[in-house]
Amino acid sequence: MDLPGGDRYLVFGAPTIGDEEIAEVVDSLRSGWIGTGPKVARFEELLREYTGAEHAVAVHSCTAALHLSMVAAGLGPGDEVITTPMTFVATVNAIVHVGATPVLVDCDRDTQLVTPERIEAAVTPRTRAVIPVHLAGRICDLEAIHDIARRHGLLVIEDAAHALEGAYRGRKVGTVSQLTCFSFYVTKNLTTGEGGLVTTSDPDLAGRIRTYALHGLSRDAWKRFSDAGYRHYQVHYPGFKYNMMDLQAAIGIHQVPHLAEWLARRERIWARYDEAFADLPVGTPAPAGPDTVHARHLYTLMVDEARCGVSRDEFMARLHERGIGTGVHYQGVHLHPYYRDAFGWRPEDFPNTTWIGERTLSLPLSGALGDDDVERVVDAVRASLPRGGA
Ligand SMILES: *Cc1c(COP(=O)(O)O)cnc(C)c1O
Repeated sequence: MDLPGGDRYLVFGAPTIGDEEIAEVVDSLRSGWIGTGPKVARFEELLREYTGAEHAVAVHSCTAALHLSMVAAGLGPGDEVITTPMTFVATVNAIVHVGATPVLVDCDRDTQLVTPERIEAAVTPRTRAVIPVHLAGRICDLEAIHDIARRHGLLVIEDAAHALEGAYRGRKVGTVSQLTCFSFYVTKNLTTGEGGLVTTSDPDLAGRIRTYALHGLSRDAWKRFSDAGYRHYQVHYPGFKYNMMDLQAAIGIHQVPHLAEWLARRERIWARYDEAFADLPVGTPAPAGPDTVHARHLYTLMVDEARCGVSRDEFMARLHERGIGTGVHYQGVHLHPYYRDAFGWRPEDFPNTTWIGERTLSLPLSGALGDDDVERVVDAVRASLPRGGA
């Protein structure tokens, strides 16, 4: 897209890929070993160290990570799993994939996170698990959620797709709950193209997830064609095809060392946005919760047509015309046709999620943005509001 002044289009969520990532992928291609192998093992080890988790299993996506977490925990028909509609559909799809029943509870309008009170109110004798979602990188109230889980005997599976760098009261995300699921999709803070990870301190869960991720074959089955010679395999469960490839891990291996630097950069951009938009009629993100590290994945504005004089969609179109790509995170899961029809959910059942979904948009936020890019976003936001937002 040609823009006045020759500016490039700022694609929302464009990945940061350096020469090292490219060289490592080429190395995989030249080595002849492109499937699951030593680079996946190295990537898992790097993330185990980064999170401090005892076990880290890399898979093809966070959706696979969520699905396998519930499979490995033995969840199925008749079981209820509580989560929030203020998430990407994959969180709820994964519950449906294991045949369990998703029970949705609304988020808070301000933090946009699921609240412990609403979780507790939704617990029934059939509830087996709860999936808190660290939306935008803001960390849920895990202590209160774990307190509920302990009292009712529930498993906590964190959807940490936005929160790889997050921490809760001095503990890294990935070490707090029984299972934590991460995403390395293109737009996430660390990318492998497609990719995901489960961390856990439970060796049995980790072992089952690893086995289920590769057809249910015996452990280390990926070595069966290696230079150690052919090995026979055995099937222990009817598993899935969710393994990560070395081609994907090759990218991730060189992203991990940048995580701290990229987070610091996003924190600076976040502070600049906060300052630049303070006098505008748009809503800006709530501050991070007490004693948490916010992973700064999404910087979201709330555009209320009555206050701003422009609808969210028209505002996004105006940013697009100025070369600024944006996203919507999210229109509530309950509004999608399948979920409306299958569960009878209506917009007014989750009023805060519906309210946010009508107003929210996410601005570019990435370690790859230069100061000029950030100022272009700031200028475009002002110019897209009637009278510069004044
Ligand atoms: C991206 C995302 C997922 C799914 O991740 P994939 O790796 O694309 O499967 C799940 N939950 C949330 C909140 C996400 O943003």
